[in-house]
Amino acid sequence: MKNHYDVIVIGAGAAGLFCAFNSAIRNKRVLVLDHANKVGKKILMSGGGRCNFTNLNTMYDDFTSENIHFVKSALNQYSAYDYLNLVESHNIEYVEKSPGQLFCKNSSKDILKMLLDECAKASVKIFKKCSINKINKSDIYSIETNVENYTANSLVVATGGLSIPTLGATGFGYEIAQQFGHKIVKTNASLVPFTLSKKILDKQKELSGVSLPVLVSNKNHNVEDDLLFTHRGLSGPAILKMSVYWKFGEEILIDLLPSKNIKEVIKSERLKHPDKLLINSLSVVLPKRLVLYLCNENLKELKLKQLDKPVIDQLVKTIHEWTVTPSGTEGYKTAEVTSGGISTEDISSKTLESKLHNNLYFIGEVLDVTGQLGGYNFQWAWSSAWCASQAVK
Ligand SMILES: Cc1cc2nc3c(=O)[nH]c(=O)nc-3n(C[C@H](O)[C@H](O)[C@H](O)COP(=O)(O)OP(=O)(O)OC[C@H]3O[C@@H](n4cnc5c(N)ncnc54)[C@H](O)[C@@H]3O)c2cc1C
Repeated sequence: MKNHYDVIVIGAGAAGLFCAFNSAIRNKRVLVLDHANKVGKKILMSGGGRCNFTNLNTMYDDFTSENIHFVKSALNQYSAYDYLNLVESHNIEYVEKSPGQLFCKNSSKDILKMLLDECAKASVKIFKKCSINKINKSDIYSIETNVENYTANSLVVATGGLSIPTLGATGFGYEIAQQFGHKIVKTNASLVPFTLSKKILDKQKELSGVSLPVLVSNKNHNVEDDLLFTHRGLSGPAILKMSVYWKFGEEILIDLLPSKNIKEVIKSERLKHPDKLLINSLSVVLPKRLVLYLCNENLKELKLKQLDKPVIDQLVKTIHEWTVTPSGTEGYKTAEVTSGGISTEDISSKTLESKLHNNLYFIGEVLDVTGQLGGYNFQWAWSSAWCASQAVK
C-alpha cells in the first residue's frame, strides 16, 4: 500500500526527526509530517544559533513534572554520552560552555544537518507543509491531511509545546492526546523572562542592560546565576531558571551580592578609607548604575565613617534581600519551553507508549516534562525519542 507506513511521526522537530531515523534503522518504513515550511526550526534558533544540544551532567532532578520519576528510564536508556557519540561520529565540533553544557562550535545547522542526513540514510520520508485534519484509529491509525491520507501501524506525536508560535508551535499534540483520552497538565510559559509592573519599571528604567551574578529564591528553590535588567522586567539565566518554579503572584527574593557579605565589605573598606563615599565603595562590588538606583539622595552623600547601624542594616536588606513580585512573564512568544503538557500518568516511561491505546506514542516537549536551562530539554527530546524508536511496531 503506497500510503501505508509502519510508523508515522507528527512533528519534524528534535524529537520527531530523532525518533524517525532510529525507527527506520530498525527496518521500519517511516513518514514524518510537519505543517511548517521548514523542519527543525527550534533547533536552528536554539542556544543563540549554536544549539546547546545536551548536558553531560544531566540528572533526573534537572526536570520538573507531576511525576518526577518519569524521566529516569528514558535518560538511562539513552544518555547525554550516547548523543555525544553520535555528534562526534558526524565530526561536529562542539564547545563546553559551563561544565557539561555542550554547544555547537560553529552553528546549530550542524545538528539539524546531522539529523536530516541520518533520516536520508535510513530512507525516512519527510513531508513539510502538511496539515493534519483528522486522525482515526481502527486496527491501524489513519491520518487525513491537506495533501493525502496516510495510514500507519504506529503513530508518534512529537509536536512540541506552545512556545514561540512563529516557529510553528501549536497545541495540536494536546488535542490528539485528549482525543485519545489522555489528561493535560496545565501548561505555562517557562524558561522565560519576568515582566514587572509599570510602576516598578518606571523607577528602574535606567537599569535596563545591567547584568550581575545573583541568587534568586522563592519558597522552595534557589538559583545562582546571572540576572539581566531589561526594559520589560528581569531576564538572564537566573530568572529563566527560576521561571520554571515560579507561580503567578509569588514574590521572589534576590540577593544582589551572593558572593560577599555587604556588612563585611563596608567594615573593611571603612577601616582603610573612612572618608570614601559609600556609593564609591559599593561600586567596587556592584554595577555603578545599580548602586545609584539602590541608594537614595541621602545615602549618596554619606561617607563610610558616617554610616550607623540602621543604615547598614537597611543596606543589608536592600542588597541581600531585595524582594520583587513579577507582574507575569513574557509568555509563549519568548519562552524557550512550555511546562506542563500531556500527563505522564497514562504513558509508559520505558517505551513512551500510551497506556490507553496500543501503538500510540508521545515524545519530547509535548509531554509534562520540563528541563532546566542548559541543554536538558534537547536531551529529553533525544532520550524520549530513542525509547519510542526502539518500541514502535
Ligand atoms: C529560542 C529557543 C532556544 C532554545 N534553546 C535550547 C537549547 O539551546 N538547548 C535545549 O536543550 N533546549 C533549547 N530550547 C528548547 C528546545 O528547542 C525544545 O525543548 C525542543 O525543540 C523540543 O523538541 P520537540 O521535538 O519536542 O519539539 P519541537 O522541536 O518544537 O518540534 C515540534 C515540531 O512539531 C511541529 N508541529 C507543531 N504543531 C504541528 C501540527 N499541528 N501539525 C504538524 N506539525 C506540527 C512543529 O512545526 C515542529 O517542527 C530552546 C527553545 C527555544 C524556543
